[in-house]
Amino acid sequence: MSAALTFDDWRAKAEKLSYRNQCFIDGQFVPAASGRTFDCVSPVDGRVLTQVARGDQEDVDRAVRAARKAFDSGVWSGMAPRERKRVLLRFADLIAEHATELALLETLDMGKPIADSTSIDVPATVNCIRYYAEAIDKVYDEVAPTSQDVVALILREPVGVVGAVVPWNFPMLMAAWKLGPALATGNSVVLKPAEQSPLTALRLAELAAAAGIPDGVLNVVPGFGEEAGQAIGRHMDVDAVAFTGSTEVGKYFMRYSGESNLKRVSLECGGKTPHIVLPDAHDLDVAAKNAAFGIFFNQGEVCNAGSRLLVHESIKEPFLEKVMEWGRKMAPGNPLDPATTMGAMVDEKQMQRVLGYIEKGKSAGATLKMGGGRALSETGGYYIEPTIFDDVANDMVIAREEIFGPVLSTLTFKNEDEAIRVANDTIYGLAAAIWTTDINKAMKAARGLKAGSVWVNCFDGGDITTPFGGFKQSGFGRDKSLHAMDKFTDLKTVWIELH
Ligand code: NAD
Repeated sequence: MSAALTFDDWRAKAEKLSYRNQCFIDGQFVPAASGRTFDCVSPVDGRVLTQVARGDQEDVDRAVRAARKAFDSGVWSGMAPRERKRVLLRFADLIAEHATELALLETLDMGKPIADSTSIDVPATVNCIRYYAEAIDKVYDEVAPTSQDVVALILREPVGVVGAVVPWNFPMLMAAWKLGPALATGNSVVLKPAEQSPLTALRLAELAAAAGIPDGVLNVVPGFGEEAGQAIGRHMDVDAVAFTGSTEVGKYFMRYSGESNLKRVSLECGGKTPHIVLPDAHDLDVAAKNAAFGIFFNQGEVCNAGSRLLVHESIKEPFLEKVMEWGRKMAPGNPLDPATTMGAMVDEKQMQRVLGYIEKGKSAGATLKMGGGRALSETGGYYIEPTIFDDVANDMVIAREEIFGPVLSTLTFKNEDEAIRVANDTIYGLAAAIWTTDINKAMKAARGLKAGSVWVNCFDGGDITTPFGGFKQSGFGRDKSLHAMDKFTDLKTVWIELH
């Protein structure tokens, strides 16, 4: 339905949109206890959309108390699996029914193209919640192979109160990756969306309540990282934190846990994905298109963005030309225009940060082949041109640090061993990709690349059925797939001796 809407339709809808802007605690929207708010600014044009409650420790306390009470009462954790499934499926249906509104909120709040919000973010969120709903009455516990005089049950129990702290690049989907498995396994949740993008999380909470998720089971506390985020990380009554965000903040959560109650921590952090292209790739045009989309999709604000392009030296020049051709087609536009493929950076700070990296690339001696500047500044929004550097060395800052913007670094290699060595020469290990028709080279790379996902002859392939997460400083624990349920459950052994 929404795919058929025109630019004017979306603009008209945007004018009429209303915003949920308070904390959602124990089934109610309430102001922050302090009464404070912060501006929710749209990166599309720099306009303030609404004032959002600035939750802090007191609000997190209230939310955790509500979550604990709901958990201990068994109203959700003890609900019959089939019934819990029914409620979560209804939640997924309600998200689908509100697809247009949610897509618009996401685009206005964080600047991604409306075409992506409608075709990727909303359907993937629905699919994620449905998948975990369906899993509820299909995942069994275990019986250990002990001697005949013993029955040893291995039970999975919900951890209790889960804190979910998520970033702004896929606000709704990253929340769904936590909410789906955490709620399916019977936990209560306190969700903190990023301060740059709180709107869809607040609306989701309301839809969850309408679907029948009992009061206190899903709470949302918007606010800043150092305040609400830290309060969740240090809370003595939060049993597990599921975090997606930067490696730097991921390390804070390890510290918070160690300095409080040793809550379980799972971390989905940053990346510096190597995208390797060998001369024998089956179709260099397809590989080039993927290299461009791999870095420019979602304005490059993607944890697994293919930010390091490693091309065999023999094909570098023609290949880079093709990538640039695709890059030029992705020039940023108004995110509400359905034809736009690249939107705005999430806020002014992120835009300045990315522009700063572009300066660092230039001063380190990399060759700026394309882009490099701010775009559409007359709109008041925060746009950056698709940017490509050539002659990048892997020890330059632009090849080492996560830029989280539309900036591609091109490096060359002489043989596959060198490609794998350079690809692995990073603190990150979220994903990697290789293009080759040689199965031996592909498998050698797939085994040799230290990353949680390796894509062969594609980029960013995946499904809700496949786990996603990092090696090394990209974090630990997995989102998506049935494995995601592990981090929200504890194993209990019940050892029964028969007499
Ligand atoms: P961020 O680390 O700055 O913030 C993430 C969340 O943590 C936000 O909710 C923020 O408010 C909170 N936070 C910030 N400082 C905090 C603190 N001191 N204490 C507690 N909480 C704090 O990340 P971001 O800028 O929102 O998102 C970009 C990062 O997210 C990138 O590094 C990206 O790679 C990563 N990311 C990873 C994945 C993945 O699945 N691996 C997916 C999406 C994004």
